[in-house]
Amino acid sequence: MNSSTLNQISILWNRVLQDIQESLNNKQLYDAFFKDTYIYGVEGNKMIIVSVSNLGKNLFKMQYYELIKSFVDKESGTNFELVFLSPDEVKKSSSEEVKENEKPTFFKSAILNPSYTFDNFVVGVSNNEANQAALICASSPAQLYNPLFIYGGSGLGKTHLLNAIGNYVKEKTPVSKILYITAQDFLYQYLEYVNSDQKNEDLSSYLKSFDILLLDDIQMLKDKKKTLEFFFDIYQYFLQNKKQVVLSSDKMPSELEGMDARLITRFMDGLTVQVTKPDQLMCEEILKMKIQNSGLELSLFEPEVISFVASKFKNSIRELNGALNRIIFIKNIQHTDKITLKLASDALANITDVSDAGHRITEQKILNAVSSYYNLSVSQITGKLKTSQIVTARHIAIYLIRNSMDLPLKKIGEIFSNRDHTTIMHSIEKVDDLLKTDPQTKVVIKELKNRING
Ligand code: ADP
Ligand code: MG
Repeated sequence: MNSSTLNQISILWNRVLQDIQESLNNKQLYDAFFKDTYIYGVEGNKMIIVSVSNLGKNLFKMQYYELIKSFVDKESGTNFELVFLSPDEVKKSSSEEVKENEKPTFFKSAILNPSYTFDNFVVGVSNNEANQAALICASSPAQLYNPLFIYGGSGLGKTHLLNAIGNYVKEKTPVSKILYITAQDFLYQYLEYVNSDQKNEDLSSYLKSFDILLLDDIQMLKDKKKTLEFFFDIYQYFLQNKKQVVLSSDKMPSELEGMDARLITRFMDGLTVQVTKPDQLMCEEILKMKIQNSGLELSLFEPEVISFVASKFKNSIRELNGALNRIIFIKNIQHTDKITLKLASDALANITDVSDAGHRITEQKILNAVSSYYNLSVSQITGKLKTSQIVTARHIAIYLIRNSMDLPLKKIGEIFSNRDHTTIMHSIEKVDDLLKTDPQTKVVIKELKNRING
């Protein structure tokens, strides 16, 4: 095809796109699937259109064939048959073949946690603002508050809210590209990228291809000068292109240490909201909701149990959940139905003894620290699922329990879904080996020990 024909076709396609945009009246959908499409060529009465992805190709074929065709026919005055190609198919058919295995390999374990939604987020005075701001960002991304900066202590719902935003947007506009990552993941991925000489894909373009960036625990990038510079570039790009960024941190922006002042100022461009410790009423509500969600009848619990547990664990909702899990665990192994105040207080005896709980290291404390570090739940860590992130966290938790407490392997096995003592031994050896070869593991263990002891 000569260049003037190509030129005419691209003008035609631009008109078609404009028509589609008006007719769809859905910017996110349009931007995600239509905006970057182009015409590969015309063969006879076939018009070959390149979609943005495999998903886009299927969407065109299944849902938008008629719509696109009607505008193509209108603008061209002819009757074209449409053929859609995915970008991969175009690459394959072109002369410079790209190898199959050169697929993006960034943030492989980055997934939204489907159990963190707005529906199961209990709202009270301590998190009302954060919840509302998160809802606004989820329902109209990058319209009002960009970035949204959520800060507050550990276990107060920051990760939950970030995921809730992602889940909400994903449900409402499935085409949106959402990336949820912890700053820790971001750091590792960046380091891995700059240290590898196989740069099949550009990490920066990869990140910039998302519509919504949810970055958890930004304080972890403290003193990481190069990573912060790299992040700053991505961050600017998102803001300039009206894409939503949501950040979480354990401190308010102005108190973040080890970060460039210009970055900190930019963090405050949008809206900053805090989550604080819940009050008694909210803790009780959370407990009731968790009980119902776990399929148990609220009536099994003596009413005093709820107020007792709520009163003891107001510092962190993660610990509140942990306490409830422990009570349910004890109920199950004692095969009783009624959960009395005695059962509850016995079950929690070693964690509610305030005078001592602050100092003594318990398996619960270690599990809490590891779960918060990896943004997993304690039951995921002690459970049976074997995704790579969960397995790593599990090895680390087992290692820390063995090293910080005087527990026999058999006992540790019981904590981890009754695993065999040889399995526990294997985890410990695995971490021992990693400590010799992998500097990242060292950093993680050191950080976790600080948190457990501090
Ligand atoms: P953070 O990221 O602030 O350390 P998380 O978001 O990980 O805290 O919350 C810890 C646990 O508490 C999670 O299991 C989360 O689902 C739960 N949680 C926190 N806030 C609420 C809330 N308001 N309602 C229900 N569950 C909550
Ligand atoms: Mg968190």
